This record gives sequence, structure tokens and C-alpha cells, in this order.
Amino acid sequence: MIKFTEKAPYAPVEYSYDVEEILYKGKSKFQDIMVIRNPHFGRMLILDDVVQLTERDEFFYHEMLTHVVMHAHPDPRKVIVIGGGDGGVVREVLKHKTVEKVYLVEIDEDVINVSKRFFPNVASDVDNLRVEIKIMDGAEFVKKRKLSDVDAVIIDSTDIIGFARSLFTVDFFTSVKNCLTDEGMFVTHSESLHFHKDMAIEVQEILKKVFPLVDLYTAPIATYPGNWWTFSVASKKLSPREIKRKPKIQTKYYSDEIHQQSFMPKGLYEKLILRKLQW
Ligand code: SAM
Repeated sequence: MIKFTEKAPYAPVEYSYDVEEILYKGKSKFQDIMVIRNPHFGRMLILDDVVQLTERDEFFYHEMLTHVVMHAHPDPRKVIVIGGGDGGVVREVLKHKTVEKVYLVEIDEDVINVSKRFFPNVASDVDNLRVEIKIMDGAEFVKKRKLSDVDAVIIDSTDIIGFARSLFTVDFFTSVKNCLTDEGMFVTHSESLHFHKDMAIEVQEILKKVFPLVDLYTAPIATYPGNWWTFSVASKKLSPREIKRKPKIQTKYYSDEIHQQSFMPKGLYEKLILRKLQW
């Protein structure tokens, strides 16, 4: 059986996956796109040789990227998802019946089309009437917004390199803050604490230049190198640690308990992020 070896940026390891079949292989204006089938993980979406999601474990990441801010906000109605062309975050956001509008701002339309074709359960809601798809750079989209009427901005981008880099700057975070309501929340993935700790620290420090409240939580993502995956969350006044609502929604991993326990204990945050403990 042939193998696919992932070229994850900055990771000191390589992950190899058995390939039962290559279902799709193409090149968009922005990146190489491939879909393979692996005996354990099922179908896998790969962009520029980096695993984005697998059928088997995508819910860990999509639930944890979405539901912490969506439960910490008292009444989320308007949401911006940047990146996320596979549709997983949109699927999770729409589980919240308070949501009236989701902007899916994905720079590469090919990713949406490939996901609809090969990952129908992930892209299940991208054509929902509450969703408006924008094929453009998320940084540009946010910068153009004139109102402060958004309840949550969720970044589900590729790794913090290349064209995703525009989503991790003081300018961009300032544009995000300007488009959020006073109770609005922002969250982005911020790489692994095992292999990319400096990057997680950098995202926290940049966010702190813009937002009064910045925090970090983690989740176990088997198919992201380093596994101890971080999410950087920021807001103007509400604590993302506090659950404000308990809608009855179906999730496989996220729960009130997981919400609370996923945040880094203050002592460890102090050691790791503030004092930059080296390991
Ligand atoms: N869950 C994956 C992860 O954490 O690595 C991300 C999956 S999603 C497919 C990543 C998407 O971000 C890609 O489709 C890519 O085209 C999109 N993207 C990257 N930079 C972007 C930007 N500046 N604006 C909009 N979309 C962007």
C-alpha cells in the first residue's frame, strides 16, 4: 500500500498515512488539494501536503473551535467564519438556533467544491439559507466591515504561514475587534503546544495588544502534529471560560465539562505562555 507523508510546517516529525486510494488530486489558484482514503481515518483532506481534516476525527477540532465561543456568548446571531472551506465550522455554528447569519469567507472556492463532493457530512450546511459564502481573503472582508454587529469571528485557516499569515497580525485583530459587538468573541486555532509553543505564545501576545481579555484552551487532535492543539480566544468584556447558555445541541466531544476543563490552568498558563518555560 502506498503512503502519504505529511509535510507539516515547523513540526520536528513526519506523519505517514497508508493510502488505500487517491480520490482527488488537483491544484487550485492557491494550493495543492488532495483527498485520500486511509484504512483508519477514512477520507482525508490534504492542502499543500498538510492534513486539514479526516472523516474519523474532524469533530474534535470543529466542535472545539466553534462551541466554546458560541456557549460563552449570551445570544450569538451573526458569525463570521474565515477559512473553513470544508464546512465543518459552519455545520457546528448552525446547530445554534440563535444564529441568523453566517459569513463563510474562504479564499479558495475549490476547497468548498472538493469538500462538498468528498466530505458531504462535513460540508452539509454550506448551502444553508443562513450562510453567505464570500470567496475572498478574510482579512480584506473584515477590514471592509463598517458596523460593530458581529457576535463571533472564528478563524479556521491553514497553518500560520503563506496566505493565512494575513489573519495573524495586529491590523487584522484590530479590524476584528472593530466589527465585534461589545459582547463579541474571537477565536482562532494557534498550533500545537508541543511543536509550535512559540507560535501559540506569539498569537497570544499579538491578541493582547488588541483585546482586553485573551485566553487559551486546548483539545486533543490526533491528526495535527503535536496533538496538544491550542485555541486562542479573545473578547472585549465577557470571559470565554464562563458558559452563558446551554442550548440542547448534539456534539460528540464538546460538553460543559470539556468547555471548562479545556482552558489552561492559570498556573500552567503563567509558566508556559507568560514565563515561556522552555522544553
Ligand atoms: N482545520 C484546518 C486546520 O486547522 O488546519 C483548516 C481547514 S480549512 C480547509 C483551511 C482553509 O483556510 C483553506 O481552505 C484555505 O484556503 C483557507 N484560508 C487560508 N488563508 C485564508 C485567508 N487569508 N482568507 C480566507 N481563507 C483562507
